[in-house]
Amino acid sequence: MTVKSEKSSVEEFDYVIVGAGAAGCIVAARLAEQHGVTVCVLEAGPGDLRPFVNIPAGFNRTLKQEDITWQFKTEPTENTGWRAIATTQGRVVGGSGSINGMVYNRGLPSDYDLWAQLGNRGWAYDDVLPYFAKSENRIGYGVEGVRGRGHGVPVTDMDWFHPISEEFIKAAQDGGLLRNPDYNGGHQEGVGYFQRTIRNGLRVSSASAFLKPALRGPNLRLVKSAVVTSLVFDGSNVKGVRYIMGRDAFEIRARGEVILCCGTVNTARLMQISGIGAQEHLNAIGVPCLHHLPGVGENLIDHYSARIVMRAKRDVVTLNEMSRGPRLVWQFLKLLLNRPNILSQTPSQVYMFCKSREGLEDPDLQCVFTPGSYKEGQHYVLDSYPGVTAGAWQHRPRSRGYVRAKSAYVSVDPIIQPNYLSDPYDQSVMVAGMQFVRRILHALRLKKYLEVETVPGAKVASDEDMLRFCKECGSTGYHLVGTAKMGPATDQMAVVDDRLRVYGLRGLRIADSSIMPSIPSANTYAASMMIGEKASDLIRKSDSSP
Ligand SMILES: Cc1cc2nc3c(=O)[nH]c(=O)nc-3n(C[C@H](O)[C@H](O)[C@H](O)COP(=O)(O)OP(=O)(O)OC[C@H]3O[C@@H](n4cnc5c(N)ncnc54)[C@H](O)[C@@H]3O)c2cc1C
Repeated sequence: MTVKSEKSSVEEFDYVIVGAGAAGCIVAARLAEQHGVTVCVLEAGPGDLRPFVNIPAGFNRTLKQEDITWQFKTEPTENTGWRAIATTQGRVVGGSGSINGMVYNRGLPSDYDLWAQLGNRGWAYDDVLPYFAKSENRIGYGVEGVRGRGHGVPVTDMDWFHPISEEFIKAAQDGGLLRNPDYNGGHQEGVGYFQRTIRNGLRVSSASAFLKPALRGPNLRLVKSAVVTSLVFDGSNVKGVRYIMGRDAFEIRARGEVILCCGTVNTARLMQISGIGAQEHLNAIGVPCLHHLPGVGENLIDHYSARIVMRAKRDVVTLNEMSRGPRLVWQFLKLLLNRPNILSQTPSQVYMFCKSREGLEDPDLQCVFTPGSYKEGQHYVLDSYPGVTAGAWQHRPRSRGYVRAKSAYVSVDPIIQPNYLSDPYDQSVMVAGMQFVRRILHALRLKKYLEVETVPGAKVASDEDMLRFCKECGSTGYHLVGTAKMGPATDQMAVVDDRLRVYGLRGLRIADSSIMPSIPSANTYAASMMIGEKASDLIRKSDSSP
């Protein structure tokens, strides 16, 4: 893009936050709670007041809307059947929290204990628990002392149930899983319905729960459609950022700190195009290396999932039929009347947290079920027959990849290489998960509803065939993390310390999903919001605090 003009006046705030996503909205709101402290948030995307963002079922549509998403794709490998997989991210106020599947899942206590064992002081489960609780408003049953109440993003229980979902849960119970009344209460294993960030039938994000109320105060400014193109340095001090809005370029300064909350892909890419990263890579893309930090962009982790589809009997009404014609009109009316309806649900409704093999201490799989199905090979297009879907993904994959800017320009998508299934152990856990899901789907109990497996079908029987199917048809879990990993100074690949300060620079912190050293056994929204809460506390207690 050609930039028309650079506006000369440079504004100054105490804090400049880049990205109004899951974490950024919380950091902004918490910092602005301090009297007299000025905060500016720059967000690349527009506002989030849009029907397809606010109505949960709009999820399928928003993924294709280019004005509110980063239409990223992964690099093809043999393990994805040489497919580039769309790994769309939110580019709108609320970030990916405005387009995500709304499942609220914190993960296992051992996920965070592992972060502490890696040398990150203050990030063990007991340390981060207060921040999980602070960022959520649990409405419904929750383990006392673990769940948050009163403030934060509302976390509600499902209010619409399909008889096949209930039967699927019973089949999983027959298979040995216990029904878990609160999988976010410290004990995850079991089966049941997801908890979700939906209230009164509508999506709630950290933008609606934190940022918007805070914007009523005098000291917080949100600049929408502002794409940050680089950081501004004074030696090794980060002093501000440059951004473009339309065809105009601006600079903005931070008296205290710049805080990057751009998400796992964009935080790494913005650092690289600003001159922070592996010298060799920056040289290759023509960006002067201002600070050699080889870990930037490395350690990319994502959940890789695959799904099985069963055709239901002709007289069974699944989401496929309910989403068309007069039945859909009826559901829409219910939405308007704030009654339970199919438009106000998460894409997956039932979870199973289970173990791929005996002897494991914690569940290493998440399996999901929904009483609806999509056409094979087509993204989010419902089948024309009644159907159900169940899928699986491994909690803690060992495969690691990277994000690398391809050019100095923010308009050129970076290379995103998660290296899915590159570790043989990940392949075996994935196959075990899929075979387990298949056993539950074929349980006797479900025979009264379900007819035949259509995807992958009887032709895929052995573990080898199932692995090939996962490679050829699997997809992203949209849980990209880890490209600016937190770690001790002894770890050459660490990007931030345990106070989230970027190594070797002053005035720059990172507070988003990119700092996760390993991926939690969960969808990653809850952990990203927890990071936002903890980061704001660290910043408020630091020397740079005004
Ligand atoms: C389709 C999808 C479905 C998902 N489903 C679930 C789910 O059901 N449950 C769950 O727990 N997790 C889910 N996730 C994951 C979860 O939403 C993310 O892990 C979380 O939002 C990451 O938070 P973040 O703060 O790191 O980044 P984000 O929430 O992505 O926010 C980053 C923000 O920074 C902005 N930004 C980036 N670059 C710039 C720039 N240069 N200048 C200005 N602004 C910039 C972006 O536009 C964006 O608004 C899903 C994610 C996606 C994409």
